[in-house]
Amino acid sequence: MSEGLADLEAELTGALMVRGAPGFEAEVATFNSSLLHTPLIIVCAETVADVQAAVRYATKYGVQLGVHATGHGYTSFTDGLMVSVRRLNSMTLDVEGHLVTVGAGVRWREVLEASAPHGLSPLAGSSTDVGVVGYLLGSGIAITGRAFGFGTDRVIALEMVTLDGEFRKVDAITEPDLFWGLRGGGGNLGIVTSVTFELVELASFYGGGIYFDGTHVRDVLSAYASWTTTLVEEMCTSLALVWLPPDPSLPEPLRGKLVAHLRVVYLGSESDGDEILAPMRASGPVLLDSVTQMAVTAMDDVHGDPPSAIPFYARGTLFGDINDDTIDAMLSVVGPDVAVPMLMWDLRHQGGAFSREPAVPNAICGRDAAFNWQVVGLATPECVDAVQLVVDQSITATEPWSTGHTLVNLHGAVKDDVDRARAFDSAGYDRMVELVRRYDPQGLLRHGHSIARSVGQSR
Ligand SMILES: Cc1cc2nc3c(=O)[nH]c(=O)nc-3n(C[C@H](O)[C@H](O)[C@H](O)COP(=O)(O)OP(=O)(O)OC[C@H]3O[C@@H](n4cnc5c(N)ncnc54)[C@H](O)[C@@H]3O)c2cc1C
Repeated sequence: MSEGLADLEAELTGALMVRGAPGFEAEVATFNSSLLHTPLIIVCAETVADVQAAVRYATKYGVQLGVHATGHGYTSFTDGLMVSVRRLNSMTLDVEGHLVTVGAGVRWREVLEASAPHGLSPLAGSSTDVGVVGYLLGSGIAITGRAFGFGTDRVIALEMVTLDGEFRKVDAITEPDLFWGLRGGGGNLGIVTSVTFELVELASFYGGGIYFDGTHVRDVLSAYASWTTTLVEEMCTSLALVWLPPDPSLPEPLRGKLVAHLRVVYLGSESDGDEILAPMRASGPVLLDSVTQMAVTAMDDVHGDPPSAIPFYARGTLFGDINDDTIDAMLSVVGPDVAVPMLMWDLRHQGGAFSREPAVPNAICGRDAAFNWQVVGLATPECVDAVQLVVDQSITATEPWSTGHTLVNLHGAVKDDVDRARAFDSAGYDRMVELVRRYDPQGLLRHGHSIARSVGQSR
């Protein structure tokens, strides 16, 4: 691996770090602290030319290639060369055109802070700490998605370096195959250096959280299952069962409690919102109700994701529908009495604009799903084996209601190639395999939700 490194370093504007160098681990730190990156070399890319040099080096010497932006992905990368893209942090906002172009190192918070003063918002997810490019490559499940669709559906162009070292401008006309596969297919086709996407007009919303006593989760979940069949698209919600720690920074009524947390983003008036929410507010004992008029810049408060790294094990699935039997299956495995340390499960309501294909189709599947379910347990060395068993069991127990698919971003642990393929429909997976063969013929980009290499391997 040391061969050619001096030449590579001489080509770079950014630094080249070798394992053991000061700051090496911090450069590729992960949010999921049970999945660490341990590359041999990091290229701290400052320019597109740095990315090209790193890719050409990897291709020439047959070295595995990884990409690191913010570390929020569900992946670990061992050995090989990791390109750290966090310094590619340019941003160009076109207020009139409702467009923004960002470099691969930009996080959602930066886009939100730049666009909100103009009454515009990106279709970000539950945490604006997540990186824009990684999120958009993997489907972009926005917390306002019922009203506006997947974040990824708003992508209009990308710039990238493919594994031949070529810099490519990708849009629906110039590179239709790459444009399809980059939108929802994950980071399988090269290293993206920038992305351009549409913003929506949104400055504020009526939203927040209603926290119920989690021991009443069956009643709340049952009410949620029927309530969600009645909702307008402007009511974007999810329901989570959360095992909260006794953290003094949490509001007192929630500390150390099991809570059923209804997350709400309503794009309408307060009075209409209250009328729609009334049946849910009556569905169980409320510990705290924080639903109020919120600036879009406060969107992280809706889910309240943990602010710092945590070790976890997660699996996801999409449900076509849920009924009393689904609820029994969910709660029999990951209900209030679960015997292993859980963090949460998260049931996100889809439908609405999530279900509509964009004008130019992309690799996202699962538009027919009514819900996205993700189950997340603690993964410290003492409990990880037991937690994995329970989380896996929750996915198996609910299979009868699953559409059989997942979305790349909330797929969680990949069990095998059949499981990996669930993030695509059958034709979509075969198309991804063909694209991976064409654009990564040596199979060097084996990180993230990476694609198997033979058509039909999914079946
Ligand atoms: C707390 C939390 C909340 C989340 N909430 C949501 C949510 O609401 N909706 C949702 O859709 N997702 C959500 N996610 C998932 C997240 O969007 C994905 O894990 C995403 O891949 C993270 O990208 P990143 O750049 O931040 O992380 P990284 O770990 O840096 O990257 C993850 C993967 O993205 C790919 N990638 C990143 N940058 C590039 C690039 N420049 N070129 C090629 N490939 C690249 C690579 O495959 C990489 O392994 C959440 C994750 C966390 C931890």
